[in-house]
Amino acid sequence: MTRSEFLTSKAKMERLLEKMKNDPEVAKILKKLKEKQDRLLEVLKQCPHENYKSENGSNTGNYDLYESYWVNVECLDCGKFMTFDSKENPKEYRKYSK
Ligand SMILES: [Zn+2]
Repeated sequence: MTRSEFLTSKAKMERLLEKMKNDPEVAKILKKLKEKQDRLLEVLKQCPHENYKSENGSNTGNYDLYESYWVNVECLDCGKFMTFDSKENPKEYRKYSK
């Protein structure tokens, strides 16, 4: 099946689905799909954040005498943005800082 054939059959399928969504059998399958999709989203929320980009930040205390180090992390898989302070989250800070 070529890409355009696939897209055509997908469009046909969507049209048909729109027409038949109230058919009891179709409605039953759609309900199950929705449940599976919700469950899939729940599982995907458990992302291990292994594919990420990080940026180290620091305030060396020259202006306010409060020295601090942190790392900003963005997971490239799920998009979650996190900040870990070297004093508050030393373990995570070491894990992600470069
Ligand atoms: Zn993630």
